[in-house]
Amino acid sequence: MKRYCRVCGQSRAIGRFKHSFSVCLECDALPLSQQLEMEIIHRIRALPLLLSEEQVQWLEKMKNDLRHGVRAAALARSETESHSPGMRS
Ligand SMILES: [Zn+2]
Repeated sequence: MKRYCRVCGQSRAIGRFKHSFSVCLECDALPLSQQLEMEIIHRIRALPLLLSEEQVQWLEKMKNDLRHGVRAAALARSETESHSPGMRS
């Protein structure tokens, strides 16, 4: 049986998780700020092709995030966006 780590987004054997079962041991060892950054980046990468209004707004906010990794992931995601039909500026 495997579970998804919400920080790194990888599925790992259940023995690789602590009691919370949502963060793997590797990520659990990271500083909390880094865990949060990775979690947001993973969330950006996991966004569906078609975004809801709410997701678009959230992504816009992430483009101005103070964390470089988050900004880069959000910008990379919007590039994909501009290639889809009807989204050209
Ligand atoms: Zn992890």
